[in-house]
Amino acid sequence: MNSEPALLCGELCKRYGRHEALRGVDLRVEPGQVFGLLGPNGAGKTTLIRLVLGLALPTSGRVRVFGRDLFTERREVIRQVGAVVEAPCFFPYLTAFENLHHLVSLTRALPRERILDTLDAVGLAPVAERKVGTFSYGMKQRLGIAQALLPDTRLLILDEPTNGLDPHGIAGMRNLIRRISQERGIAVLVSSHLLGEIEQVCDRVVILHHGRKVIDNSLEELQNRDAEIEVLVEPDPAALARAGLDGALRSSDGVEDGLQLLRLSLPETEVPAAVRALVAAGLALHRVERRTRNLEEIFLQHTERGESDVRIDSF
Ligand code: ATP
Repeated sequence: MNSEPALLCGELCKRYGRHEALRGVDLRVEPGQVFGLLGPNGAGKTTLIRLVLGLALPTSGRVRVFGRDLFTERREVIRQVGAVVEAPCFFPYLTAFENLHHLVSLTRALPRERILDTLDAVGLAPVAERKVGTFSYGMKQRLGIAQALLPDTRLLILDEPTNGLDPHGIAGMRNLIRRISQERGIAVLVSSHLLGEIEQVCDRVVILHHGRKVIDNSLEELQNRDAEIEVLVEPDPAALARAGLDGALRSSDGVEDGLQLLRLSLPETEVPAAVRALVAAGLALHRVERRTRNLEEIFLQHTERGESDVRIDSF
């Protein structure tokens, strides 16, 4: 069993003329992991994917797939990497089986069972003999994934896999991604603007911003990294100033009954001391509550507001 990471990018830089699209990005994706790649428009996601697929050369830096160097052992590496980066195209007058068969016959023979097994992996085994022209958009997306899985794929790259799918299709795609990673140990790198979707399907998330990595954490670490506490107090600006928590104070809003809601963001270990400081300063506390932050809040905090066109619908 190969214990090498599925994907390892080291100090990856890409320059287009004077523009730096990627600036020293490190990335590590483990086998069987679903890895989310996020960032506002222009953050460098597509550039990173193009480099990992060997479609463009980096200005500097390394890409290794299961321990092999992409640029010196390209042929062996590419065989293990599958991708769906745009809506996949098929021959509509051929069946699902025939489309995949045609594809492999262009390169090398694969046993019939292998094609059927791959169709089964994406839930299309029952319609293997149906013409693709009769498929829904969601079924074609699944067939695209089957196509990407057919070689010896152990690293699968999906760029916006739920684009154009309805809520049922999105839920189905989520289950499919989970299944192929868990049951087949395939590492999946998913790029998406749908934060709710990433939150539900990914084990780990990287956020790029202006070509730099600003976040690289497991979802659990992300949500627990900075505790956010909400404190409901009787307004007393002088007492609040005495508490000396300006650095942690994210917002302070008046709420009904003349009370004030303070939001404090600080490391988990400092929460008790912060509560003591508020009490010692003379603030009357009505309620203290811990909140976990969702991915949308984390994303907005680490990328500039107004610059992104991230959709925040959570399916
Ligand atoms: P989106 O979410 O909009 O797809 P992205 O995160 O995929 O954005 P990239 O497409 O990687 O971002 O682009 C990163 C930066 O590099 C952008 O500023 C883009 O204009 C620039 N860029 C990308 N490709 C080229 C190219 N071929 N020539 C010049 N600049 C480029």
